[in-house]
Amino acid sequence: MDNIRFNAVAAAVSRKVRKIEPTSGKISDYFGELIFNESVMKEYLAGEAFQKVMNAVKHGDKIDRRIANQVASSLKAWAMSKGATHYTHWFHPLTGSTAEKHDAFISPTDDGKAIENFHGSELVQQEPDASSFPSGGIRNTFEARGYTAWDPTSPAFLMDNTLCIPTIFVSYTGEALDYKTPLLKAITAIDKAAVDVCQYFDKRIKKVYPTLGWEQEYFLVDSALYYARPDLVLTGRTVFGHASAKDQQLSDHYFGSIAERAKQFMKEFEIEAHRLGIPVKTRHNEVAPNQFECAPVFEEVNLSVDHNQLLMHIMQRIARNHDLTVLLHEKPYAKVNGSGKHNNWSLSTDTGENILTPGRTTKTNLRFLTFLVNILKAVNENADLLRASVASAGNDLRLGANEAPPAIVSVFVGSHLSGVLDDIETRVNPGKISKELQTGTNLSFPKVPEILLDNTDRNRTSPFAFTGNKFEFRAVGASDTCSNAMSVLNLIVADQLTAFKSEVDKLIDHKVKKDEAIIKVVQNYIAGSKNIRFEGNSYSKEWETEAGERGLSDLKTTPEALKVLISGKTIDLFTRNNVLTGRELKARYEIMLENYTKKIQIESRVLGDLAKNHIIPTAIKYQNLLVENSKGLKEVLDAQAFIKLSKNQIQAIKEISHHIAGINMLVEEMTNERRVANRMDSAEQKAKAYAKKVHPYFDVIRSHVDKLELLVDDNLWPLPKYRELLFIK
Ligand code: ADP
Ligand code: MG
Repeated sequence: MDNIRFNAVAAAVSRKVRKIEPTSGKISDYFGELIFNESVMKEYLAGEAFQKVMNAVKHGDKIDRRIANQVASSLKAWAMSKGATHYTHWFHPLTGSTAEKHDAFISPTDDGKAIENFHGSELVQQEPDASSFPSGGIRNTFEARGYTAWDPTSPAFLMDNTLCIPTIFVSYTGEALDYKTPLLKAITAIDKAAVDVCQYFDKRIKKVYPTLGWEQEYFLVDSALYYARPDLVLTGRTVFGHASAKDQQLSDHYFGSIAERAKQFMKEFEIEAHRLGIPVKTRHNEVAPNQFECAPVFEEVNLSVDHNQLLMHIMQRIARNHDLTVLLHEKPYAKVNGSGKHNNWSLSTDTGENILTPGRTTKTNLRFLTFLVNILKAVNENADLLRASVASAGNDLRLGANEAPPAIVSVFVGSHLSGVLDDIETRVNPGKISKELQTGTNLSFPKVPEILLDNTDRNRTSPFAFTGNKFEFRAVGASDTCSNAMSVLNLIVADQLTAFKSEVDKLIDHKVKKDEAIIKVVQNYIAGSKNIRFEGNSYSKEWETEAGERGLSDLKTTPEALKVLISGKTIDLFTRNNVLTGRELKARYEIMLENYTKKIQIESRVLGDLAKNHIIPTAIKYQNLLVENSKGLKEVLDAQAFIKLSKNQIQAIKEISHHIAGINMLVEEMTNERRVANRMDSAEQKAKAYAKKVHPYFDVIRSHVDKLELLVDDNLWPLPKYRELLFIK
């Protein structure tokens, strides 16, 4: 019978590069041509409607039915002029991906024909029969009502002749069933809290919005090789595979010249991204072979999150044109780097400033310091929540695996800022503030001061690092939506800023001068958040020990990490800021646990199946060859020579038997543990059992299989090997 692996390898190496013809014109000629953006709206909407939509986008004003009808008919006209036949509400259910249900624009007419229609009511709200989306018990399946509602802050776009309208997804009773709703609420919370604090410094500031620039890492693999690995197809990662003799040890891939096939793929998906207004800017090779990264220019966070979801989708679609498959899993291959999605985050004002840009010298900028210190405090007090916001089965394999930040949350601010903070904490007398620290000083933000550029030595190991004029949250997983991490980050900072303001106001009420009050509270916060600051190597063993001594948590598995979602403190925090209710949080907790359980369950089944039905039969086949061989030797050799010359074969036969027995026994044990876990009623107990009882078998079974890979004749091995998956370009 044909060896699937060799067929796949042959197909992969014989691929021709599919050249992408240069598109006519400059990127700016087609950038955003598939979105209903401000300039298109101006063209298609009457003055009043345009103004109302802009007010909704900028100030969250409501849009009434009359205006919605106008917007809908303009949207339809625009979309049809570009060839659209269908429309859909595009939303982010708690599966983590995006969902759409297409409807044609048509309505039948009396004369047996049809006309294209699209009403305001269809734009504003839909009721998808979405009973199979996870709801954590909020929405019973028999009462399958879930509603999607238009989010005008993210522009409608065209994909494959379908008009896509970004929406939120809520239950009949108004509870959030998606990732967008809490994000929008967290954005509202931070806007209010940050504006209130900005008002101490600059009365002109009326709006603050968070910004996000993500960096998407991914692997490419030839589709033939991909389909020859059932584990990649079903779980997104390889559950077996011995390390290739060469992988990333020479660091010769990082920032290297991009292989032609990969480059053509990038070109094509970037064109698609640009047409959809996604400002993709940077592309490069990453550390591991066949690993890459792409990053856009940062945008307002809600839009940026939508763009990331869209981009992941586009990449996967375009890859097919090149016979490539995009692996977004956090750890597709053991022993080489996994993939993350750094979330660069900052706060912008409606006066056009980035709040996290320090002044000419840091000391002249009390506003910058105030925000910086509030962020430190927020992370210090909610480190577990940030950890939970990036928890997933895939990310568990990456966090702390020597190439990614550990599961321990800490903040890096650089030695210069560290010094500034220590200085302010210990040396500044709030009663006698130097001129440069006062709020009345003319605060200009000309550019990042040289001193900072020199001093934010880029600590690559920190999970949460200040990088000159933004924070970089590096623990987010490559396949994850950014919205969880961004909802939590914006929420905790919002809550912290609110607390800050009330403390300062209280002092002011007690006749303390404003600047003095601010400095006093800032000093307290510096002292109170030292624990979270760490400037050293976060990948080191020493840090694990030190973090333990500091009392920082190191929650290695998803079920442990998620627990904080339902603590009283978390529920208070979310409800106080009107982001999620206790009921919604509990539902989310259950959904995420179930999701984890299912992922591990699938991996465990795939692993068991591959081990028993692919690996063991192959090992036995090879073992039989060895047995035949030694029988033959016995026939032709005298007894003494036989003993001497068949030693290696006999040894190999024994070793193979040992691994086969090991695999059989361990797979059996793992299956039993799965059965036990499956009988558990509580989602929490079940997830824990999968993490602690089932998952530990993966590595031990793998080590037997990977040893067999080295023993068995290469000609018989059925699964594409790492050297093929990682190096065929
Ligand atoms: P790295 O060195 O980590 O690869 P870069 O310095 O190139 O990263 O920047 C990475 C990302 O940071 C980009 O997506 C960029 O748009 C984003 N970024 C820059 N400034 C801001 C900001 N003010 N807010 C949010 N993201 C930002
Ligand atoms: Mg980065």
